[in-house]
Amino acid sequence: MTAENTTAGSGDEFVPRTVLVTGGNRGIGRSIAEAYREQGHRVCVTYRSGEAPEGFFAVQADVTDSASVDQAFTQIEAEYGPVEILVANAGVTRDTLLLRMKEEDFTDVVDTNLTGAYRVVQRAAKGFLRKKFGRVVLISSIVGLYGSPGQINYAASKAGLVGIARSLSRELGSRNITANVVAPGFIDTDMTAVLPEETQAKYLDAIPAHRFGRPEEVARAVRWVTSDEAAYITGAVIPVDGGVGMGH
Ligand code: NDP
Repeated sequence: MTAENTTAGSGDEFVPRTVLVTGGNRGIGRSIAEAYREQGHRVCVTYRSGEAPEGFFAVQADVTDSASVDQAFTQIEAEYGPVEILVANAGVTRDTLLLRMKEEDFTDVVDTNLTGAYRVVQRAAKGFLRKKFGRVVLISSIVGLYGSPGQINYAASKAGLVGIARSLSRELGSRNITANVVAPGFIDTDMTAVLPEETQAKYLDAIPAHRFGRPEEVARAVRWVTSDEAAYITGAVIPVDGGVGMGH
């Protein structure tokens, strides 16, 4: 194992960690879970609907329900002990222009993407404090920093994650706990596949790299920011967006 491959341990020695990725059954979350597994970590994923993904310790959880979140953590702790690396990835969109947006379109998206992240972070924090070690990555979006028409609900929820990561860094930073945000641009997954072709073409034109990102490219940034190499990075917003959000 090279130094490059070590994660959140001491020196060059590889320390396997207990990792939890919410919404790890598909898309970006699935890629993140695979990236940690490749390195030999104990990887747990939550899934909300459908089948449990093969090859991971999978627990069913809905991040809009604190009892469900608590029960998922309890199951993980019984199997592997406290979560050491938490990736809050579960997210939804419900796009529509402001004048057509119903209040529940706003509150439901915020409840999943922002309050959902708060629920898992709060539950994980107990274990971090006991272990005197914790790594948090919140999956935001370029939309949270740049804004996007038709996504006031989503943008608000994703911008709020920056506030969580930075406040958490200030609150628990002295306990060997880091909290960072990864802000993907346009990544090829189910979430973006549903966008009209015309919208996709418009995004492509605006991306300096002139291509959409791959889930693995987000996964590598997430894994790196929880590694030893990034132990002094906290409260940061790391874009993985082909340059589209430069300066935001
Ligand atoms: P997908 O729609 O492919 O996957 C979303 C995941 O979140 C699924 O696993 C889904 O579970 C889970 N989820 C949704 N709601 C809940 C809930 N209430 N409780 C638990 N799990 C839930 O999305 P992506 O992989 O594209 O996105 C992953 C993250 O990355 C999201 O936070 C998204 O906002 C963010 N992102 C994505 C970008 C992109 O271009 N794709 C760009 C920027 C950010 P289920 O399978 O049960 O529905």
